[in-house]
Amino acid sequence: MTEAVIDTKKLANFIDGVWEKEKVESVPVINPATGESIVEVPLSTAEDVDRAVAAAKKAQKEWSLVPAPQRAEVLFKIGSLMKERKEHLAQLLTMENGKVIEEGRGEVQEGIDMAFYMAGEGRRMFGQTTPSELKNKFAMSVRAPIGVVGIITPWNFPIAIATWKSFPAIVAGNAVVWKPATETPIMAYELAKICEEAGLPKGVLNVVFGKGSTVGDSMVHHDDIRVISFTGSNDTGRDIAAECGKQLKKLSMEMGGKNAVIVMDDADLDLAVEGILWSAFGTSGQRCTACSRVIVHKDVKTAVEERLLSAMETLTIGNGLDESIKVGPIINQAGIDKIKKYISIGNEEGAKLLAGGYELKDGKYKSGHYFAPTLFTNVKADMRIGQEEIFGPVVSLIPVDSFEEAIEANNSVSYGLSSSIFTKDVNRVFQAQRDLDTGIVYVNAGTTGAEIHLPFGGTKGTGNGHRDSGVQALDVFTEWKAVYVDYSGKLQRAQIDVE
Ligand code: NAP
Repeated sequence: MTEAVIDTKKLANFIDGVWEKEKVESVPVINPATGESIVEVPLSTAEDVDRAVAAAKKAQKEWSLVPAPQRAEVLFKIGSLMKERKEHLAQLLTMENGKVIEEGRGEVQEGIDMAFYMAGEGRRMFGQTTPSELKNKFAMSVRAPIGVVGIITPWNFPIAIATWKSFPAIVAGNAVVWKPATETPIMAYELAKICEEAGLPKGVLNVVFGKGSTVGDSMVHHDDIRVISFTGSNDTGRDIAAECGKQLKKLSMEMGGKNAVIVMDDADLDLAVEGILWSAFGTSGQRCTACSRVIVHKDVKTAVEERLLSAMETLTIGNGLDESIKVGPIINQAGIDKIKKYISIGNEEGAKLLAGGYELKDGKYKSGHYFAPTLFTNVKADMRIGQEEIFGPVVSLIPVDSFEEAIEANNSVSYGLSSSIFTKDVNRVFQAQRDLDTGIVYVNAGTTGAEIHLPFGGTKGTGNGHRDSGVQALDVFTEWKAVYVDYSGKLQRAQIDVE
């Protein structure tokens, strides 16, 4: 088991290209697998945000004038450095977040992919040309950068989500102020170092560490931040949306999920169980796209229960740096307490607990935060454990009588992030992709595993219509500008001088 070493005892804000080391108040970053402190993270203030925004505002003026293909060159360098340091980043990610090392590597790879993909956009960033209704007149639309953008990220994907947001913002000519989650700030420190080494001009990316209630809140209220891109919980998202609404500030939000795998009576059950296992218990269920419900046709319910139970026995639980471990820790005690609360709710609601349902505290689990993979069955779609986000390794089996009932159960939640169906019936495949009310639909695969060149995000309570990643991410960080060039030499009036 190798453990990467971080080159500092205390992280520092990165503002205007300077590592600010003088901050005094700080808190430890705790490895959820061991309970040990890895590094200290400063708790910044509103004044720090002000300085970061001022630096970003100044830098953005010049950065926006650098041709996009040249801006992209810096992203290519950032991607290359991330690739060189993939293992170092993955180990630190596992240490601060707890996800198993294989997934840590996967998450870093997602950031690398995003760097190269968005660098490619530096030579595309297509607008449109279109005929004018008037003679000797040219019409086109182009993307324009917006200015200073604020990005606020959660602990469960400390590097991938930041790259989904900052790389499109940067290639489009904006400057960024980034507040990472206080629980997992190390990836922000490492990525900022990489950006500096890659030659990103000072002030284009600024990192301010600290609490959401101070640093995040100041960003949301700041007049010079023109866009907020937020990923996190619905409670926080609702407050941010209310404030951005008051200020008429552009806001992109990605929030919770209550994702389901549907298993039809004709499904390849071994494949379905493999997909459920990976998407439900990977990252210990702490993914926004985690499978938290299995909607199963009654004819295969018992078979799915049996196979899933026996597959769950193969799950090894422990420190994710150990390559043999499949399920890592829960991020903190509050996370454990929330899961325990839902176990009680499930029992009270009359669901049948088939496996797990308890915290692991003895022996090698003593110093970390671990929870046993859990399976409930006989869950009704409208029970709270079938409706609310638990964010842990807990799966609820919901039996249904038909395909139609399965779709209805899937769509009955307030969230709309990801869904999946296992079936061999091509008609059902196409009906399902049409009728499943989620931003992401998988066929014969679990609910996780998004690829960065496709739009990522959800419908209903999961988001507000924007998308992270894919070319669609550029829509968050650019304004469309319509440009008309009249070369007729006379005043031509649209809608009036049309012959
Ligand atoms: P969270 O508590 O809402 O925190 C998210 C971020 O917001 C953190 O950086 C947090 O800072 C900050 N924050 C907290 N209060 C704030 C405020 N008043 N103003 C501005 N910023 C504030 O969420 P979380 O527990 O970290 O993340 C888990 C949630 O994220 C789950 O619901 C999950 O489904 C969702 N998620 C969604 C997606 C998606 O793409 N749909 C992806 C991943 C995660 P501090 O924590 O440092 O105080």
